[in-house]
Amino acid sequence: MFKDKFRLHTPGPTPIPPRVQQAMNRPMIGHRSADCSALIAECSAKLRPLFGTAQDVLILTGSGTSALEAAVANTVAAGDKVTVVVTGAFGDRFAKLTETYGCTVHRLDIPWGEACTPDTLRTHLQQHPQSKAVFMTYCETSTGVLNPVQELAKVIREETDALSIVDAVSCLGAVPLEMDNWGIDIVVTGSQKALMLPAGLALVAVSEKAWQVIEQNDTPRFYLDLRTYRKSLAKHTTPYTPAVSLLFGLGEVLDMFEEQGLAQVIARHNLMMNMTRAAARALELPLMTTDEAASPTVTSLYGTDAFDVETLRQTLRQLNVVVAGGQQHLKGKIFRIGHMGYCEPGDILAVIATLEVALKKLHVPIELGRGVQAAEEVWAHV
Ligand SMILES: *Cc1c(COP(=O)(O)O)cnc(C)c1O
Repeated sequence: MFKDKFRLHTPGPTPIPPRVQQAMNRPMIGHRSADCSALIAECSAKLRPLFGTAQDVLILTGSGTSALEAAVANTVAAGDKVTVVVTGAFGDRFAKLTETYGCTVHRLDIPWGEACTPDTLRTHLQQHPQSKAVFMTYCETSTGVLNPVQELAKVIREETDALSIVDAVSCLGAVPLEMDNWGIDIVVTGSQKALMLPAGLALVAVSEKAWQVIEQNDTPRFYLDLRTYRKSLAKHTTPYTPAVSLLFGLGEVLDMFEEQGLAQVIARHNLMMNMTRAAARALELPLMTTDEAASPTVTSLYGTDAFDVETLRQTLRQLNVVVAGGQQHLKGKIFRIGHMGYCEPGDILAVIATLEVALKKLHVPIELGRGVQAAEEVWAHV
Protein backbone atom coordinates (compact mmCIF):
# COMPACT_ATOMS: atom_id res chain seq x y z
CA MET A 1 0.00 0.00 0.00
CA PHE A 2 1.13 3.55 -0.67
CA LYS A 3 1.57 5.59 2.49
CA ASP A 4 0.27 8.72 0.77
CA LYS A 5 -2.67 7.23 -1.11
CA PHE A 6 -5.18 6.87 1.68
CA ARG A 7 -8.78 8.03 1.31
CA LEU A 8 -9.68 10.55 3.99
CA HIS A 9 -13.37 10.16 4.81
CA THR A 10 -13.55 11.83 8.19
CA PRO A 11 -16.19 14.57 8.60
CA GLY A 12 -13.35 17.07 8.70
CA PRO A 13 -10.61 17.54 7.88
CA THR A 14 -11.36 16.58 4.29
CA PRO A 15 -9.12 16.09 1.22
CA ILE A 16 -7.67 19.17 -0.49
CA PRO A 17 -8.11 19.41 -4.29
CA PRO A 18 -4.71 19.49 -6.06
CA ARG A 19 -5.38 22.90 -7.62
CA VAL A 20 -6.22 24.30 -4.18
CA GLN A 21 -3.05 22.76 -2.74
CA GLN A 22 -1.10 24.43 -5.56
CA ALA A 23 -2.77 27.77 -4.97
CA MET A 24 -1.74 27.61 -1.32
CA ASN A 25 1.89 27.20 -2.43
CA ARG A 26 1.97 30.61 -4.09
CA PRO A 27 4.78 32.92 -2.92
CA MET A 28 3.82 34.88 0.19
CA ILE A 29 2.52 38.42 -0.23
CA GLY A 30 2.20 41.23 2.28
CA HIS A 31 -1.15 41.22 4.02
CA ARG A 32 -1.50 44.99 3.59
CA SER A 33 -0.76 44.82 -0.15
CA ALA A 34 -3.22 45.71 -2.88
CA ASP A 35 -3.11 42.08 -4.05
CA CYS A 36 -4.15 40.80 -0.64
CA SER A 37 -6.93 43.37 -0.38
CA ALA A 38 -8.25 42.29 -3.77
CA LEU A 39 -8.18 38.66 -2.63
CA ILE A 40 -10.02 39.43 0.61
CA ALA A 41 -12.68 41.44 -1.22
CA GLU A 42 -13.11 38.71 -3.81
CA CYS A 43 -13.35 35.91 -1.24
CA SER A 44 -15.80 37.77 0.96
CA ALA A 45 -18.05 38.55 -2.00
CA LYS A 46 -17.92 35.05 -3.49
CA LEU A 47 -18.75 33.50 -0.11
CA ARG A 48 -22.12 35.29 0.01
CA PRO A 49 -24.06 32.76 -2.12
CA LEU A 50 -22.80 29.88 0.02
CA PHE A 51 -24.26 31.56 3.11
CA GLY A 52 -27.31 32.81 1.21
CA THR A 53 -26.76 36.35 2.37
CA ALA A 54 -26.24 39.84 1.03
CA GLN A 55 -24.18 40.64 4.14
CA ASP A 56 -20.40 40.71 4.16
CA VAL A 57 -18.77 37.45 5.20
CA LEU A 58 -16.11 38.13 7.84
CA ILE A 59 -12.89 36.12 7.63
CA LEU A 60 -11.13 35.25 10.91
CA THR A 61 -8.06 33.12 11.47
CA GLY A 62 -8.82 30.23 13.79
CA SER A 63 -10.48 26.82 13.80
CA GLY A 64 -14.25 26.46 13.59
CA THR A 65 -14.63 26.80 17.34
CA SER A 66 -13.23 30.33 17.20
CA ALA A 67 -16.17 31.22 14.96
CA LEU A 68 -18.54 29.61 17.49
CA GLU A 69 -16.90 31.58 20.28
CA ALA A 70 -17.10 34.80 18.24
CA ALA A 71 -20.84 34.22 17.80
CA VAL A 72 -21.21 33.84 21.58
CA ALA A 73 -18.82 36.54 22.83
CA ASN A 74 -20.28 39.19 20.55
CA THR A 75 -23.97 38.61 21.18
CA VAL A 76 -24.42 37.62 24.82
CA ALA A 77 -23.48 39.01 28.23
CA ALA A 78 -23.14 37.33 31.61
CA GLY A 79 -26.57 36.76 33.09
CA ASP A 80 -28.36 36.59 29.75
CA LYS A 81 -30.79 33.75 29.22
CA VAL A 82 -30.12 31.73 26.08
CA THR A 83 -31.46 28.57 24.50
CA VAL A 84 -29.09 25.98 23.08
CA VAL A 85 -30.45 23.16 20.94
CA VAL A 86 -28.25 20.17 21.76
CA THR A 87 -28.52 17.32 19.27
CA GLY A 88 -24.97 16.04 19.83
CA ALA A 89 -21.38 16.96 20.69
CA PHE A 90 -21.36 20.27 18.80
CA GLY A 91 -24.61 21.52 20.29
CA ASP A 92 -23.03 20.60 23.61
CA ARG A 93 -20.05 22.80 22.68
CA PHE A 94 -22.37 25.80 22.20
CA ALA A 95 -23.88 25.04 25.62
CA LYS A 96 -20.42 24.96 27.25
CA LEU A 97 -19.40 28.17 25.46
CA THR A 98 -22.48 30.09 26.57
CA GLU A 99 -22.02 28.78 30.13
CA THR A 100 -18.41 29.95 30.01
CA TYR A 101 -19.63 33.46 29.15
CA GLY A 102 -21.90 33.39 32.20
CA CYS A 103 -25.23 32.85 30.47
CA THR A 104 -28.17 31.08 32.04
CA VAL A 105 -28.42 28.25 29.53
CA HIS A 106 -31.74 26.60 28.78
CA ARG A 107 -30.61 23.43 27.07
CA LEU A 108 -33.00 21.74 24.70
CA ASP A 109 -31.56 18.23 24.74
CA ILE A 110 -32.65 15.99 21.89
CA PRO A 111 -31.72 12.30 21.84
CA TRP A 112 -28.49 11.90 19.87
CA GLY A 113 -29.28 10.69 16.36
CA GLU A 114 -32.50 12.68 16.11
CA ALA A 115 -33.14 16.15 14.73
CA CYS A 116 -34.86 18.90 16.69
CA THR A 117 -38.41 19.31 15.40
CA PRO A 118 -40.02 22.76 15.07
CA ASP A 119 -42.74 21.77 17.58
CA THR A 120 -40.21 20.71 20.19
CA LEU A 121 -38.43 24.05 19.86
CA ARG A 122 -41.73 25.95 19.98
CA THR A 123 -42.74 24.29 23.24
CA HIS A 124 -39.30 24.98 24.71
CA LEU A 125 -39.38 28.66 23.71
CA GLN A 126 -42.87 29.08 25.14
CA GLN A 127 -41.41 27.88 28.45
CA HIS A 128 -38.35 30.13 28.07
CA PRO A 129 -39.58 33.26 26.29
CA GLN A 130 -36.73 35.35 27.79
CA SER A 131 -34.08 33.66 25.67
CA LYS A 132 -31.97 36.37 24.07
CA ALA A 133 -30.44 34.04 21.51
CA VAL A 134 -31.03 30.53 20.25
CA PHE A 135 -27.93 28.55 19.27
CA MET A 136 -28.27 25.55 17.01
CA THR A 137 -26.21 23.22 14.86
CA TYR A 138 -27.14 22.75 11.19
CA CYS A 139 -25.29 19.48 10.61
CA GLU A 140 -24.58 17.76 13.93
CA THR A 141 -21.33 16.10 12.91
CA SER A 142 -21.24 13.74 15.87
CA THR A 143 -24.39 11.92 14.75
CA GLY A 144 -24.86 12.81 11.07
CA VAL A 145 -28.11 14.67 11.67
CA LEU A 146 -29.13 17.71 9.63
CA ASN A 147 -31.35 19.91 11.76
CA PRO A 148 -34.20 21.72 9.92
CA VAL A 149 -32.78 25.18 10.64
CA GLN A 150 -35.08 26.90 8.16
CA GLU A 151 -38.15 25.76 10.11
CA LEU A 152 -36.44 26.26 13.47
CA ALA A 153 -35.54 29.87 12.58
CA LYS A 154 -39.18 30.47 11.62
CA VAL A 155 -40.34 29.21 15.03
CA ILE A 156 -37.80 31.45 16.75
CA ARG A 157 -39.13 34.51 14.91
CA GLU A 158 -42.74 33.58 15.69
CA GLU A 159 -42.15 32.97 19.40
CA THR A 160 -39.42 35.42 20.48
CA ASP A 161 -37.15 38.34 19.62
CA ALA A 162 -34.12 36.10 20.10
CA LEU A 163 -31.28 35.98 17.63
CA SER A 164 -31.01 32.75 15.60
CA ILE A 165 -27.41 31.58 15.57
CA VAL A 166 -26.36 28.62 13.44
CA ASP A 167 -23.21 26.50 13.44
CA ALA A 168 -22.92 25.38 9.82
CA VAL A 169 -19.29 24.24 10.11
CA SER A 170 -19.80 20.73 8.73
CA CYS A 171 -22.27 21.47 5.95
CA LEU A 172 -21.93 25.00 4.56
CA GLY A 173 -21.08 24.59 0.88
CA ALA A 174 -22.83 21.21 0.67
CA VAL A 175 -26.46 21.88 1.60
CA PRO A 176 -29.05 24.60 0.88
CA LEU A 177 -28.60 27.64 3.10
CA GLU A 178 -30.47 30.92 2.73
CA MET A 179 -29.50 32.86 5.78
CA ASP A 180 -31.35 36.06 4.78
CA ASN A 181 -34.55 34.44 3.48
CA TRP A 182 -34.74 32.03 6.40
CA GLY A 183 -34.28 34.83 8.94
CA ILE A 184 -31.08 33.48 10.49
CA ASP A 185 -29.02 36.15 12.27
CA ILE A 186 -25.57 34.60 12.45
CA VAL A 187 -24.06 31.74 10.48
CA VAL A 188 -20.56 30.49 11.24
CA THR A 189 -18.36 27.97 9.50
CA GLY A 190 -14.79 26.72 9.27
CA SER A 191 -12.52 25.87 6.37
CA GLN A 192 -11.71 22.16 6.80
CA LYS A 193 -15.07 20.56 6.05
CA ALA A 194 -17.11 21.08 2.88
CA LEU A 195 -14.89 24.02 1.90
CA MET A 196 -12.03 21.64 1.03
CA LEU A 197 -9.27 23.58 2.83
CA PRO A 198 -7.01 22.92 5.79
CA ALA A 199 -8.29 24.10 9.16
CA GLY A 200 -7.51 27.73 9.96
CA LEU A 201 -10.21 29.99 8.55
CA ALA A 202 -13.33 30.85 10.51
CA LEU A 203 -16.10 32.55 8.54
CA VAL A 204 -18.95 34.55 10.03
CA ALA A 205 -21.97 36.28 8.48
CA VAL A 206 -24.14 38.61 10.57
CA SER A 207 -27.63 40.10 10.00
CA GLU A 208 -28.49 43.76 10.61
CA LYS A 209 -30.52 42.73 13.66
CA ALA A 210 -27.52 40.90 15.10
CA TRP A 211 -25.19 43.86 14.38
CA GLN A 212 -27.43 46.04 16.53
CA VAL A 213 -27.06 43.58 19.41
CA ILE A 214 -23.32 43.26 18.82
CA GLU A 215 -22.79 47.05 18.83
CA GLN A 216 -24.58 47.35 22.19
CA ASN A 217 -22.99 44.33 23.83
CA ASP A 218 -20.18 45.18 26.24
CA THR A 219 -18.89 41.68 26.95
CA PRO A 220 -15.08 41.97 26.96
CA ARG A 221 -13.51 40.64 23.75
CA PHE A 222 -10.53 41.54 21.65
CA TYR A 223 -9.31 39.07 19.00
CA LEU A 224 -12.84 37.86 18.37
CA ASP A 225 -14.51 41.29 18.38
CA LEU A 226 -16.55 41.16 15.17
CA ARG A 227 -16.82 44.96 15.07
CA THR A 228 -13.12 45.24 14.24
CA TYR A 229 -13.44 42.66 11.45
CA ARG A 230 -16.38 44.55 9.99
CA LYS A 231 -14.50 47.88 10.04
CA SER A 232 -11.46 46.31 8.43
CA LEU A 233 -13.45 44.45 5.79
CA ALA A 234 -14.98 47.75 4.67
CA LYS A 235 -11.37 48.66 3.75
CA HIS A 236 -10.81 45.19 2.21
CA THR A 237 -8.49 44.06 4.93
CA THR A 238 -8.43 42.25 8.28
CA PRO A 239 -7.54 43.69 11.72
CA TYR A 240 -4.71 41.16 12.24
CA THR A 241 -2.52 39.13 9.88
CA PRO A 242 -4.79 36.71 8.02
CA ALA A 243 -3.77 33.18 7.00
CA VAL A 244 -2.75 34.40 3.54
CA SER A 245 -1.99 30.93 2.13
CA LEU A 246 -5.44 29.74 3.14
CA LEU A 247 -6.90 32.80 1.42
CA PHE A 248 -5.09 31.79 -1.78
CA GLY A 249 -6.71 28.38 -1.36
CA LEU A 250 -10.12 29.86 -0.57
CA GLY A 251 -10.03 31.94 -3.75
CA GLU A 252 -9.44 28.75 -5.74
CA VAL A 253 -12.17 26.86 -3.86
CA LEU A 254 -14.69 29.60 -4.61
CA ASP A 255 -13.73 29.47 -8.30
CA MET A 256 -14.45 25.73 -8.19
CA PHE A 257 -17.89 26.38 -6.67
CA GLU A 258 -18.63 28.88 -9.44
CA GLU A 259 -17.49 26.47 -12.14
CA GLN A 260 -19.63 23.58 -10.84
CA GLY A 261 -22.59 25.63 -9.67
CA LEU A 262 -23.89 25.47 -6.12
CA ALA A 263 -26.99 23.47 -7.17
CA GLN A 264 -24.77 20.75 -8.67
CA VAL A 265 -22.56 20.67 -5.59
CA ILE A 266 -25.62 20.23 -3.38
CA ALA A 267 -27.01 17.50 -5.66
CA ARG A 268 -23.66 15.66 -5.56
CA HIS A 269 -23.73 15.61 -1.76
CA ASN A 270 -27.31 14.30 -1.74
CA LEU A 271 -26.32 11.55 -4.15
CA MET A 272 -23.32 10.53 -2.02
CA MET A 273 -25.55 10.39 1.06
CA ASN A 274 -28.12 8.25 -0.75
CA MET A 275 -25.45 5.90 -2.10
CA THR A 276 -23.91 5.44 1.34
CA ARG A 277 -27.27 4.79 2.98
CA ALA A 278 -28.35 2.33 0.29
CA ALA A 279 -25.10 0.41 0.76
CA ALA A 280 -25.53 0.36 4.56
CA ARG A 281 -29.02 -1.08 4.18
CA ALA A 282 -27.86 -3.70 1.68
CA LEU A 283 -25.10 -4.76 4.09
CA GLU A 284 -27.49 -4.67 7.06
CA LEU A 285 -25.38 -2.13 8.88
CA PRO A 286 -27.72 -0.12 11.14
CA LEU A 287 -27.98 3.58 10.22
CA MET A 288 -28.05 5.99 13.13
CA THR A 289 -30.48 8.47 11.57
CA THR A 290 -33.71 8.35 9.60
CA ASP A 291 -33.70 9.41 5.95
CA GLU A 292 -35.53 12.60 6.94
CA ALA A 293 -32.92 13.60 9.53
CA ALA A 294 -29.84 12.46 7.60
CA SER A 295 -27.09 14.89 6.66
CA PRO A 296 -25.72 14.88 3.09
CA THR A 297 -22.20 15.33 4.48
CA VAL A 298 -21.70 12.52 7.01
CA THR A 299 -23.30 9.14 7.69
CA SER A 300 -23.17 7.42 11.10
CA LEU A 301 -23.42 3.64 11.35
CA TYR A 302 -23.77 1.50 14.46
CA GLY A 303 -21.58 -1.50 15.04
CA THR A 304 -23.32 -4.89 15.36
CA ASP A 305 -22.72 -7.99 17.45
CA ALA A 306 -20.72 -9.35 14.51
CA PHE A 307 -17.83 -6.86 14.78
CA ASP A 308 -16.10 -4.32 16.97
CA VAL A 309 -16.32 -0.80 15.57
CA GLU A 310 -12.80 0.24 16.52
CA THR A 311 -11.33 -2.97 15.04
CA LEU A 312 -13.23 -2.27 11.85
CA ARG A 313 -11.80 1.26 11.74
CA GLN A 314 -8.27 -0.12 12.19
CA THR A 315 -8.81 -2.67 9.44
CA LEU A 316 -10.12 0.03 7.13
CA ARG A 317 -7.08 2.15 7.98
CA GLN A 318 -4.78 -0.69 6.94
CA LEU A 319 -6.70 -0.81 3.67
CA ASN A 320 -6.11 2.94 3.24
CA VAL A 321 -9.60 4.18 4.09
CA VAL A 322 -9.90 6.60 7.01
CA VAL A 323 -13.27 7.00 8.72
CA ALA A 324 -14.14 8.57 12.07
CA GLY A 325 -15.27 6.92 15.28
CA GLY A 326 -17.93 8.08 17.72
CA GLN A 327 -17.63 11.03 20.11
CA GLN A 328 -18.39 11.06 23.84
CA HIS A 329 -20.78 8.20 24.76
CA LEU A 330 -20.84 7.01 21.14
CA LYS A 331 -17.13 6.10 21.21
CA GLY A 332 -16.80 2.46 20.17
CA LYS A 333 -20.50 2.31 19.27
CA ILE A 334 -20.60 4.04 15.89
CA PHE A 335 -18.35 4.91 12.98
CA ARG A 336 -18.85 7.88 10.72
CA ILE A 337 -18.21 8.11 6.99
CA GLY A 338 -17.58 11.66 5.82
CA HIS A 339 -18.67 12.42 2.27
CA MET A 340 -18.21 16.14 1.82
CA GLY A 341 -16.06 18.53 -0.13
CA TYR A 342 -13.61 17.05 -2.63
CA CYS A 343 -15.51 13.80 -2.83
CA GLU A 344 -17.60 12.29 -5.61
CA PRO A 345 -19.74 9.19 -6.27
CA GLY A 346 -16.79 7.07 -7.47
CA ASP A 347 -15.05 7.70 -4.14
CA ILE A 348 -18.11 6.39 -2.32
CA LEU A 349 -17.97 3.15 -4.34
CA ALA A 350 -14.33 2.71 -3.32
CA VAL A 351 -15.16 3.30 0.34
CA ILE A 352 -18.09 0.84 0.26
CA ALA A 353 -16.00 -1.78 -1.55
CA THR A 354 -13.20 -1.42 1.00
CA LEU A 355 -15.74 -1.56 3.82
CA GLU A 356 -17.01 -4.88 2.44
CA VAL A 357 -13.46 -6.27 2.26
CA ALA A 358 -12.77 -5.14 5.82
CA LEU A 359 -16.01 -6.71 7.12
CA LYS A 360 -15.17 -9.94 5.27
CA LYS A 361 -11.70 -9.99 6.81
CA LEU A 362 -13.38 -9.66 10.23
CA HIS A 363 -15.59 -12.67 9.34
CA VAL A 364 -18.78 -10.65 9.32
CA PRO A 365 -21.31 -12.67 7.29
CA ILE A 366 -21.87 -10.34 4.34
CA GLU A 367 -22.07 -11.00 0.65
CA LEU A 368 -19.28 -9.17 -1.16
CA GLY A 369 -20.54 -6.65 -3.69
CA ARG A 370 -23.98 -6.16 -2.18
CA GLY A 371 -23.29 -2.71 -0.82
CA VAL A 372 -21.46 -1.60 -3.93
CA GLN A 373 -24.32 -2.81 -6.10
CA ALA A 374 -26.89 -0.95 -4.04
CA ALA A 375 -24.82 2.23 -4.25
CA GLU A 376 -24.34 1.78 -7.99
CA GLU A 377 -28.10 1.39 -8.44
CA VAL A 378 -28.62 4.75 -6.77
CA TRP A 379 -25.93 6.41 -8.89
CA ALA A 380 -27.16 4.81 -12.12
CA HIS A 381 -30.68 6.06 -11.61
CA VAL A 382 -30.18 9.77 -10.96
C1 LIG B 1 -15.76 20.61 13.03
C2 LIG B 1 -16.88 21.31 13.68
C3 LIG B 1 -16.69 22.46 14.47
C4 LIG B 1 -15.39 23.15 14.67
O1 LIG B 1 -14.38 22.42 15.16
P1 LIG B 1 -12.87 22.92 15.12
O2 LIG B 1 -12.14 21.69 15.51
O3 LIG B 1 -12.74 24.01 16.09
O4 LIG B 1 -12.59 23.38 13.72
C5 LIG B 1 -17.81 23.08 14.99
N1 LIG B 1 -19.03 22.62 14.77
C6 LIG B 1 -19.26 21.54 14.01
C7 LIG B 1 -20.67 21.10 13.76
C8 LIG B 1 -18.20 20.84 13.45
O5 LIG B 1 -18.41 19.77 12.68
